[in-house]
Amino acid sequence: METYADLLTAIAPASGETRTIFDPATGDSVGEAPVHTVEDLERAVDAATAAQPAWAALSHEARSAALLLAADAVERNAEELARLLSREQGKPLNGPNARFEVGACSAWLRTAAGTELAAETVVDDGETHAEIHYRPIGVIGAIGPWNWPMMITIWQIAPALRMGNAVVVKPSEYTPLSVLALIHVLNQELPVGLLSVVSGGREVGARLAEHPAIGKIMFTGSTATGKAIIKSSAGTVKRLTLELGGNDAGIVLPDADPKAIAEDLFWGAFINTGQTCAALKRLYVHEDIYDAVCEELTKVAAAMPMGVGLDENNVLGPLQNKAQFDIVARLVEAARNSGARVLLGGNPEAGQPGYFYPTTLVADIDNNNPLVTEEQFGPALPIISYSTVDEAVEMANGLDVGLGASVWSSDLDLARSVAARIQAGTVWINKHGAVDPRIPFGGAKQSGYGLEFGVEGLKALGVPQVING
Ligand code: NAD
Repeated sequence: METYADLLTAIAPASGETRTIFDPATGDSVGEAPVHTVEDLERAVDAATAAQPAWAALSHEARSAALLLAADAVERNAEELARLLSREQGKPLNGPNARFEVGACSAWLRTAAGTELAAETVVDDGETHAEIHYRPIGVIGAIGPWNWPMMITIWQIAPALRMGNAVVVKPSEYTPLSVLALIHVLNQELPVGLLSVVSGGREVGARLAEHPAIGKIMFTGSTATGKAIIKSSAGTVKRLTLELGGNDAGIVLPDADPKAIAEDLFWGAFINTGQTCAALKRLYVHEDIYDAVCEELTKVAAAMPMGVGLDENNVLGPLQNKAQFDIVARLVEAARNSGARVLLGGNPEAGQPGYFYPTTLVADIDNNNPLVTEEQFGPALPIISYSTVDEAVEMANGLDVGLGASVWSSDLDLARSVAARIQAGTVWINKHGAVDPRIPFGGAKQSGYGLEFGVEGLKALGVPQVING
């Protein structure tokens, strides 16, 4: 186990250009991140290319054993990783935040290690015997966002390593330290060169996406960047898994119990202070229980403490960066100017350090308002009233993204029948955003393509090969 200071020292750049990373809650310096270049990327790709064949030659059991040791290493260093994550990303230690995220890293590693992927026999009729096997792709590029920097990196690299690939990670410029520290810890248990991190800007991501030695890009981030990656990867016909932006709808049916669902609705929307791809971002409530849901949700939301992440009391934190703060502020202002009713929040305190935007609920808002149609990615939830389920489903399906969605009801069969009509990669019932390493996860429409997690997630990191004969 390393101390927090050891961890920072281990990832401190030895030479080259550096950039100071500031705590979004206080404005204090967290540490120095290297500014890696395209030349650094070339070195990482060469090292990965050299290390990959020996790793691929190991059995599934041997690679799984290494991933389990890597999960142990994450657990040994969990508290230090969580503190660094909290300081860099802003998320509190407690609640479904920093400690939870580090715990998810070891859980995903363990599940990737323990998931079986046998060859599948597709025809065996006495004349023909055909099987599908999943072979390693080679070197994978993993490009990630700033909201769940450690967990999403693990989502990308755990199945990649398990399937016999090497990985070069390109973290977000906003949260490089968390990813550098995580990979430093994982590398205590992995062969040299197999897994590395190149902490550069967009140009490094763009080069990774077009690089001829990279077989696949795992990308999580905005839809706009996903489209850029599709273009830059076209020249090498690269395989892609794209987990892109979302604007998830939740539909509360008239038979739901407002008091019983209020806390789960809250966390569905405000997990990681709303900075979550599959958070509930538009809430549609039947007119019969609209006022009751608004009231219960306001009670729950008003009681959730927001503040500096290292304070054990807090469960909500700041926005991670100024650009995201400005998006949330602009969208809430647009809602207020349109005559919508701000039930809670909506007025950030001026002159405070940190990008804190208060927990905000907005009622009586039109479905075409920008706070509804654009992804806010922050702690501001619009609540829209509807009269018929058809109308609610039409509004839920009215955007060009479809990552997750949810239906809230006391009648499971009814909820499932409504869920079947929603255009989204996952529809949760009486919960929102619950991801599980055993259950495939991916987007519909412009929220991306390809599945992560479970056996489907392993298959996505292999090249299917048919042996016929
Ligand atoms: P972003 O698209 O701005 O950046 C993501 C990463 O892409 C960063 O590492 C960035 O440096 C890199 N990048 C930027 N331009 C590039 C290019 N041309 N080529 C290659 N790489 C490039 O996203 P963000 O602001 O960090 O993340 C927030 C967005 O991510 C939100 O829209 C959110 O919904 C989405 N997201 C989706 C999921 C999911 O699982 N679907 C999860 C988390 C976040």
